[in-house]
Amino acid sequence: MSDWDKLIPKPESKFLRVKCPDCGNEQVIFDRTTSVVHCNICGATLAEPSGGKASIKGEIVAILD
Ligand SMILES: [Zn+2]
Repeated sequence: MSDWDKLIPKPESKFLRVKCPDCGNEQVIFDRTTSVVHCNICGATLAEPSGGKASIKGEIVAILD
């Protein structure tokens, strides 16, 4: 008997639609980005890498699989 199969987390990564807090632009970013993501419109920081997962600075409006 093994419950290990259920416990192993899937290496899931997602794309997030994030709204820029400064200008309201919505932009799709990768949630495991390895570089800082800037807003295409105003250049504000939307996400920065943080131990594998991105630290999201804006508002997440949707999660895309
Ligand atoms: Zn912006």
